[in-house]
Amino acid sequence: MDGVFREAPEAFLRMIVAHELAHLKERGHDRAFYQLCHHIEPDYAALEFAVRAWLCWMESGGTNPWAQDAPAPQAPGLRSA
Ligand SMILES: [Zn+2]
Repeated sequence: MDGVFREAPEAFLRMIVAHELAHLKERGHDRAFYQLCHHIEPDYAALEFAVRAWLCWMESGGTNPWAQDAPAPQAPGLRSA
């Protein structure tokens, strides 16, 4: 995950920090947990959605869309196990 975090935009790092801080008080991912996340980071829901989409894209073999010389995105093919 080191590379992912090194390349992650600042907004994503803010989401991750809010998430982990919230876990100091709430262990699960229940309503109280997300309310705490939003208290720490008002844009939490939007940030989390973007992080999930980005991680899925990276895991599918996509290049970092924020990289300076990233090629145009291609539809990710189905990976064989
Ligand atoms: Zn969590």
